[in-house]
Amino acid sequence: MAACMYCGSDVLRHDPVFVDELDGDERTEVGAFCNYACLSAYIDEEGLTTGASCEWNPA
Ligand SMILES: [Zn+2]
Repeated sequence: MAACMYCGSDVLRHDPVFVDELDGDERTEVGAFCNYACLSAYIDEEGLTTGASCEWNPA
């Protein structure tokens, strides 16, 4: 089974969302979540968007 990084339950019993990171040409799975709700809650809890998001800067 793949455990949800946020709530720890088996993601395959839900509507799973997976996160990959790209290292060169290689995709590495770094996270699995039950659904977008668990992904979103995890991001909020870990503060992952703080100072990290891309910014669209109109000229
Ligand atoms: Zn979950």
